[in-house]
Amino acid sequence: MKYILTSALLASASFASVVPRAQKVDYTGFKALRVTLPQGSDNVKAQVENLVAHVLNPGQSELDVVVAPKDVEALTALVAGSKVINEDVGAALAEEGEMGVYAVPSESWFTAYHPYADHIQFLRDLQAGYTSNSAIVTVGTSVQGRTLTGIQIWGNGGRGSRPAVIIHGNVHAREWITSMTTEYFAWQLLTKYASDASIKALVDKFDFYITPIVNPDGFLYSQTTDRLWRKNRQTVSGNTCVGRDINRNWPFKWEVTGGASTNPCSETYKGVAAGDAPENRGLVAQVNQLRGSRGISLYLDVHSYGQYILSPYGYQCNLRPENDAQHQSLASRAAAAIRAVSGTQYTFGPSCSTLYATTGSSTDYTDVTGNATYSFTYELRDKGTYGFTLPANQIQPTVRETWAGVVSMLRDA
Ligand SMILES: [Zn+2]
Repeated sequence: MKYILTSALLASASFASVVPRAQKVDYTGFKALRVTLPQGSDNVKAQVENLVAHVLNPGQSELDVVVAPKDVEALTALVAGSKVINEDVGAALAEEGEMGVYAVPSESWFTAYHPYADHIQFLRDLQAGYTSNSAIVTVGTSVQGRTLTGIQIWGNGGRGSRPAVIIHGNVHAREWITSMTTEYFAWQLLTKYASDASIKALVDKFDFYITPIVNPDGFLYSQTTDRLWRKNRQTVSGNTCVGRDINRNWPFKWEVTGGASTNPCSETYKGVAAGDAPENRGLVAQVNQLRGSRGISLYLDVHSYGQYILSPYGYQCNLRPENDAQHQSLASRAAAAIRAVSGTQYTFGPSCSTLYATTGSSTDYTDVTGNATYSFTYELRDKGTYGFTLPANQIQPTVRETWAGVVSMLRDA
């Protein structure tokens, strides 16, 4: 990301008396490419990572990348094969639509993307309408001191009386559809509780903890400066690169190699030590506290993109949880429920063998250390055409189909 640094430095040099303000990265003309790496290609992979503006999808033999027009030729010369998945990333960004104007929670919230502050206001306003069975909860604090704000929802057993369902969104900053989707879950649970017996049964069965944006600093940075930012905003001593990947930082099998990066400039930088991202510490504390009290029935970590439902494990491709068959059954039925809404096809299976290896990931931690009965990662729409910058007109179809999948899981769990 050298060009961000350059523009920030220029801004501060020419307006020394003014507070320097980072310029927003302009992706006009940048292309998204799906590249195939040559066999046994760690060196080529490193060169690709250096050349591109962003690696979108941390795969092994295939990578989705965003590349500046001037670097396309050098990139295609490096790799074994490539195909264009988006001709103009800047133009795709325009299709995300204007930010929504804030109004009291209604279904129209799900027709546009929103600024960070409005997301927090949405949760507060939603909770204010249902004070007898919900509360705003704080899960932890970010590097820059923002709270990880969530909502707890309970039913007729009273607050904190049922097994926990924990849902995290937007751990990766650029995955904007995931906060919209997890907010839709909270919206459905609260607004339908009184009128829909099937929803009431779910709310009465569990205690929900939904945190739509667990990486607030990164999310804000993706809105102000770089739309394709992934990590948190933590600095690394002796290095100019910023950010840890919070979903490679969980203190379970963090030390295993091959599923995260030790390079602070990488999109999947794991950190200096297990659990050394403040955001991660908050999430770990939440999981540990609920494990030790009423237990965790279901953990969902909501990401984009790729259309996957992934079960443990990420760190070892041959290992399965003892209730793997039930995991696959829940995932299969959820995928069918999603397909029934809109025809959207999801792939499901164990994380490492289905997608790629990950270490220090949330679902490995919640399965083993958190003792959750079920742990899943959702990768929402699409399969790369728009990637993280899903157009505004796909928000409602996405949140609705995903909700059908989650309802199916809640019934089965
Ligand atoms: Zn993600």
